[in-house]
Amino acid sequence: MCGIIGISDHSEASKIAYLGLYALQHRGEEAAGIATYDGSVHIIKDRGLVFDVFDESAINSLKGRVAIAHTRYSTTGSSNIKNCQPFLVTHRNRPIAVAHNGNLTNTEELYRKLEDGGSIFQTSMDSEILVHLLVKTPNGDYKKWFVDVLAQLKGSFSLVFMVEDTIVGARDLQGFRPLVLGKLGDGYILASETCALDLTKAEFIREIEPGEVVIIKGSKLESVYLPGHAKAKKAQCVFENVYFARPDSHIFDDNVYLVRKRLGAQLAKEAPAPGVDFVMPIPDSGVSAALGYAEQLKLPYEVGMIRNHYIGRTFIQPSQFLRDFRVRVKLNPIHDVIKGKKVLVVEDSIVRGTTSRSRVREIRNAGAKEIHMRITCPPIVSPCFYGIDFPSTEELVAHGKTIQEIADFIEVDSLQYLSLEGMLSVMKDGGAFCHACYTGKYPAGIPQNKSKYLLEGKLA
Ligand code: AMP
Repeated sequence: MCGIIGISDHSEASKIAYLGLYALQHRGEEAAGIATYDGSVHIIKDRGLVFDVFDESAINSLKGRVAIAHTRYSTTGSSNIKNCQPFLVTHRNRPIAVAHNGNLTNTEELYRKLEDGGSIFQTSMDSEILVHLLVKTPNGDYKKWFVDVLAQLKGSFSLVFMVEDTIVGARDLQGFRPLVLGKLGDGYILASETCALDLTKAEFIREIEPGEVVIIKGSKLESVYLPGHAKAKKAQCVFENVYFARPDSHIFDDNVYLVRKRLGAQLAKEAPAPGVDFVMPIPDSGVSAALGYAEQLKLPYEVGMIRNHYIGRTFIQPSQFLRDFRVRVKLNPIHDVIKGKKVLVVEDSIVRGTTSRSRVREIRNAGAKEIHMRITCPPIVSPCFYGIDFPSTEELVAHGKTIQEIADFIEVDSLQYLSLEGMLSVMKDGGAFCHACYTGKYPAGIPQNKSKYLLEGKLA
């Protein structure tokens, strides 16, 4: 998963991009980068948090009125410096940079075709394919150029490009990943989520539509659509609503916090918890849904665990004694609240189950008499090929296990999940979502080669 930003026509484009990345930090903590253009291209990118990668002099050195930016959470390729984005090439003196959120599913096919045609790849990211396609496609008219290139892609993509002083934004035909448009002075801003617009004081205009390509030069914006756009069926990622996006964002025509509250209320209807003393969330991911759950059942809501937001990196190596260090440094139960109580814990999802188990142990050690867990989505049984870094099927705790077996694994007294129908019923348009991770039904097919490291020398 990743966060992307594009800015056109602002005197402080790099500062706005930096603030936007700050707001999108949750979408990727591995690496961050900004590219700008003022007749020459400037780029700074590195591994680390936005705060680690940039300082004031770095931001000041990124000159120009246009910028694109990226925070990375790898779903293809390793987490190394080469794979940081924006990815920049210069072709016939023209710089082309791209920042990508999503996963292509025809990577292997495109890669082979391009290599056979003489392309030399520098990274192991599927995103690099885009610039190779761009330089090989006739490029007089930007609208035709980008439509010709993007129409060749399969899978999920929300994209921003910077070609000299032109910014291009695009979303795949099914709209898997979000991308929003805002007005910023005389120019525009594109961002993965509206929380980036709020921080930069941009005015939200609308979402980029699935299959739409916007071309922004100065303060002029033109829009064009990919072939097949009128007939394509939306498949927005439901996990963005369940977990990934920030609750203060408005994406997929809804506010994420309100969606999560509705998920919690629906869960309460489907899986009530008679006899518990209170409802508590696993912070921060379960907070909004736990509120909805407690409200629905008129149960007390308690903050039973506190999240430490100042973790950063630590030099302390976890020893045997400190083996749950990583979990405890992040979340600490409030013993006086939990001791002797029957607690209902709301969590957004369970993936591998290992974190949930550690958290349950912490709550148990704090003296809980009973721990009942409710999950605001169905069991995750299939990997994601569209941009969420879910592990292989075998690593998913729900794969091949009954609910009781999962409950035993994470050591809770009871466990219930929200149904698929219940989850989709609280979305504005339940039919417009991808739920492949719960159902194994992949609306854009699956890649021939499923490896995340497909482009790391493994192609024959
Ligand atoms: P676990 O119990 O180890 O499956 O961890 C569950 C928590 O990690 C939940 O809050 C999940 O939503 C969160 N999570 C979200 N995305 C991922 C991911 N791609 N891989 C692993 N855990 C994730």
